[in-house]
Amino acid sequence: MRSHYCGGINESHIDQDVTLCGWVHRRRDHGGVIFLDLRDRDGISQVVFDPDTPDSFSLAEKVRSEFVIQVTGRVRRRPAGTENANMPTGQVEVLGTAMTILNAAATPPFPLDEHVDVGEDVRLRYRFVDLRRPEMLNRLRFRSRVTSYIRNFLDRNEFMDVETPILTRATPEGARDYLVPSRTQEGSFFALPQSPQLFKQLLMVSGVDRYYQIAKCFRDEDLRADRQPEFTQIDIEASFVDEESLMGMTESMIRELFRDVLQVDLPEFTRMAYSEAMKRYGSDKPDLRIPLELIDVADLVSSVDFKVFAGPAKDPKGRVAGLRVPRGNELTRKQIDEYTKYVGIYGAKGLAYIKVNDLSKGAEGLQSPIIKFLGDDVALAVIERVGAEDGDLVFFGADKTTVVNEALGALRIKLGHDLSLLTSEWAPMWVVDFPMFEETSDGGLHAIHHPFTAPSCTSEELAASPETALSRAYDMVLNGTELGGGSIRIHDESMQQAVFRILGIDEEEARAKFGFLLDALKYGCPPHGGLAFGLDRLVMLMTGASSIRDVIAFPKTQSATCLMTQAPGAVDEKQLRELHIRLRKPATKPSASAVETSNEGEANSES
Ligand code: ASP
Repeated sequence: MRSHYCGGINESHIDQDVTLCGWVHRRRDHGGVIFLDLRDRDGISQVVFDPDTPDSFSLAEKVRSEFVIQVTGRVRRRPAGTENANMPTGQVEVLGTAMTILNAAATPPFPLDEHVDVGEDVRLRYRFVDLRRPEMLNRLRFRSRVTSYIRNFLDRNEFMDVETPILTRATPEGARDYLVPSRTQEGSFFALPQSPQLFKQLLMVSGVDRYYQIAKCFRDEDLRADRQPEFTQIDIEASFVDEESLMGMTESMIRELFRDVLQVDLPEFTRMAYSEAMKRYGSDKPDLRIPLELIDVADLVSSVDFKVFAGPAKDPKGRVAGLRVPRGNELTRKQIDEYTKYVGIYGAKGLAYIKVNDLSKGAEGLQSPIIKFLGDDVALAVIERVGAEDGDLVFFGADKTTVVNEALGALRIKLGHDLSLLTSEWAPMWVVDFPMFEETSDGGLHAIHHPFTAPSCTSEELAASPETALSRAYDMVLNGTELGGGSIRIHDESMQQAVFRILGIDEEEARAKFGFLLDALKYGCPPHGGLAFGLDRLVMLMTGASSIRDVIAFPKTQSATCLMTQAPGAVDEKQLRELHIRLRKPATKPSASAVETSNEGEANSES
């Protein structure tokens, strides 16, 4: 139907006849001449109709925004003075000789030919129109280049693309499962995979040796800004490898991806132990572009008469840390109040600070409401410890370690951006030496990565002191965002059983839930490991998009619904009956928590 894309017309086509198809981006009537900006996925061409071709001229008069048309005409240079240097096609135009209206269009829900601040709910409701915007189409195109590059890289490195089931059993990655009721097995449910974790491990047992998949994963979590209930992972696993070879290979993949599609040479990847990351940045995914660091001062303040500091300083689970802000003493009272409110989101009860005006005057040169509680000597010792100089300000966090890390960790990022302190554009790193477990609120232990991650110690050492055991896990972090993570896996059945025991999963439960894995570990399982990258986040970072929803064609809202298809939706009584389900209470939109299985076999609906 067409000879060229609209965006591909340029001076090399002058005097050629072309046929273009696309959407009317804008129509302008200039006293006897009609200009149509015709848009397709590659760009916009200007088409001119004059009354010399009366049929097409009168059709051109009829078209409206977003009509779908086909135009044939001759490419010519735009008259001097009317060129548009901002458009790739801006030197030329097409003098239309024939035109067909392929389809009319209702007035679009929001204009596409100018930037309007339309609410995201409207964009999501009419996503098919929203995606026409060049900005959105370009992101989809960019995403496709990324996946195509990754596939090529992994194919070149002899990885095999293998699909794994979507209807499966729960795969523990720490989130809630999406469940699918079974019609044929009454009262039973499939879980949608939180990741292909166990299948990719089984593929290693099968001898696939190098596996990858661009895999959809599903996690029913309360959504934060950068999460989606279904998302895409670049999922990788390999046999007979150690962490060095896996990290090296995937680092090359990301480095070459950036070079190839973004023309960016990433700097050297910093490598940092989890404990150091938490200590210096309060985060296991530190943004190393920001030069601010948390510095412990608990030992200096543990015996002061100021409970706010001394309490956490003496608590083994507490932390007191300072964050030096160079030239921070220019911050106003109002700004400090705002930062205090900000750390409150992370549970901090306040935000103490000291301004350093003139150190040559000793404690006299410090300014802060807390100096009278700390005493001059302690205040000066603290200032010396954090290395503050005249003109600086030091913020303090004093609370449970988790609160201080989260609050000061978030504050350092905010200050970094607010005060333009970023030292580089890209700061990639690996975080390694994660603990195997963390304590849950009920005093039990929970696997930090997942329960299939190998510890760095023997099973005896692990059983003797699980709290201090480290794992062979690694995360790749870029600019404070976790791009991906993985680990060397347990390939020995007794070690796997030991980890299950520590997690409070007894033998019976382990058999019931992971019997197939335990069997596989018995039948010749090679040492193996892998990792998974979050594709959505990777593309978001690379395109500079501000929301993960902007790099997904059809994303869900924060409440995990689709505004366009209205999913999730109600189902009719017959379907529920077939699935042996009855609703607890009348509802037009059943939610996962509102359904139960009916064991009577007969659906007796209460609704
Ligand atoms: N399955 C892990 C995840 O989804 C990644 C991995 O360990 O390979 O986070």
